[in-house]
Amino acid sequence: MTRIATPEGSLFGLANLPYGVFSTPGTAPRVGVRVGEHVVDLTLVDDVFAAPSLNPFMAQGHARWVQVREQIRTLVSGDVDDAAVHPAESVTMHLPFEVADYVDFYASEHHASNLGRLFRPDSAPLMPNWKHLPVGYHGRAGTVVASGTDIVRPSGQRKAPSNGSPTFGASRRLDIEAEVGFVVGTGSPIGTPVGADDFDQHVFGVVLVNDWSARDIQAWEYVPLGPFLGKSFATSISPWVVPLLALESARVATPPQDPEPLPYLREKNPWGLDLELTISWNGQIVSRPPYREMYWSPAQMLAHLTVNGASSRTGDLYASGTVSGPAKDQRGAFIELTWGGKEPVEVNGEPRTFLEDGDEVSITATAPGPSGARIGFGEVTGRVLPAR
Ligand code: CA
Repeated sequence: MTRIATPEGSLFGLANLPYGVFSTPGTAPRVGVRVGEHVVDLTLVDDVFAAPSLNPFMAQGHARWVQVREQIRTLVSGDVDDAAVHPAESVTMHLPFEVADYVDFYASEHHASNLGRLFRPDSAPLMPNWKHLPVGYHGRAGTVVASGTDIVRPSGQRKAPSNGSPTFGASRRLDIEAEVGFVVGTGSPIGTPVGADDFDQHVFGVVLVNDWSARDIQAWEYVPLGPFLGKSFATSISPWVVPLLALESARVATPPQDPEPLPYLREKNPWGLDLELTISWNGQIVSRPPYREMYWSPAQMLAHLTVNGASSRTGDLYASGTVSGPAKDQRGAFIELTWGGKEPVEVNGEPRTFLEDGDEVSITATAPGPSGARIGFGEVTGRVLPAR
């Protein structure tokens, strides 16, 4: 039997207990929980965790999530069967859930204003709808990939404003977007909107997202229907799903919303979240985006996503949009950090603007837990490979 240590200051203490899908050499992927520097096989708790995704467990609903979290806390506080305990560095992590639909929002006022200035320098930075609804688009669920998956540089049509016609080739302005993703555990039937105050009954947990973005492809294609091939080639997510139940101490008010949103977007107790992100470029931290600055809450995003009667499903992933704060070193995309490539940042002593082949980007986050503890989200990482 093993007694698992959770050292003082561990980001994976008993207040966190995130779920992921792991395998060891020669075994099938199954669900585990991260505790300190170990992964505990949850098939000890219930057969539902023998699946290679969290979907069957998430579909069991909120009451069950609460109950199982208590069971896990009891289990890992005592002596655990040796065969179920694996050092975290010895396991392979997989995509933690089967992604049903994928939606990406645009909920940071700082990011939306910066991109407005960069993409449309002659108009107001925010479009007239932006403070009335959480702007978003439907993305491509099939290209959501696990952290660690290499990212092949996309090719497509690009047209610089000074050129008369487009050319085809590898993206020259490949970028990242540091985002936070919300995972739907129990869905909602078609024709039935989810109320803003019902968020925590539906959303199971939180992951980190890197929405890789080819700015040159995006700039040419996005009018009038929005992002398409400039973003659909790959979206990376972190392997650990931090349960919403672990984030009570991270709840904060959203920034003041003026004008007051329409009634379906009003929350009794807003779901702002005090996550602190970091972005590392080839191992060097270049930005620290603060999630608490996000204008729209994830509860408002889900309410808006379903207000027309669109259904939601177990495994739906919706991302917040790039997390950017007011300061330059809090911007969550390189197009903002380098102001369209005009103000390079130093990475390991070299001036850099957009991603080069071989570059690696990692995004991490932590949040306040109970009694001064901190909750870790692990990381989402990916390396750029040359275009094919
Ligand atoms: Ca995005």
